[in-house]
Amino acid sequence: MIDAFVPSANETAQDGVPRCRPGCAACCIAPSISSPIPGMPGGKPAGVPCVQLDDALRCKLFGRPERPAVCGSLQPSLEMCGPADDGGTHARRYLMRLERATQPAV
Ligand code: SF4
Ligand code: SF4
Repeated sequence: MIDAFVPSANETAQDGVPRCRPGCAACCIAPSISSPIPGMPGGKPAGVPCVQLDDALRCKLFGRPERPAVCGSLQPSLEMCGPADDGGTHARRYLMRLERATQPAV
């Protein structure tokens, strides 16, 4: 379980600071989330899109108190987000690898 990530926001890279990219939403799809989410009271399984993503893959809860605290804690990075023009492919692979690496042993 990955316990830190950001929402799909509507910002683009500026000032050399990585920003969450429109249309990616890898952080809201690839990881599992243990916190309750409105519409997903048991949290979110890995690889399942959050029900709070809108049609543009933006968080419908952004800025609202119902948004899980964990959703704001992982910051965009070039390592995670990857190339701006790959449609989020790198990010989904990166986050799925991280998800597998952080799953508790059974
Ligand atoms: S609540 Fe928002 S930020 Fe959190 S996983 Fe769902 S869509 Fe993403
Ligand atoms: S991987 Fe990066 S661009 Fe994609 S949703 Fe997460 S922070 Fe945003």
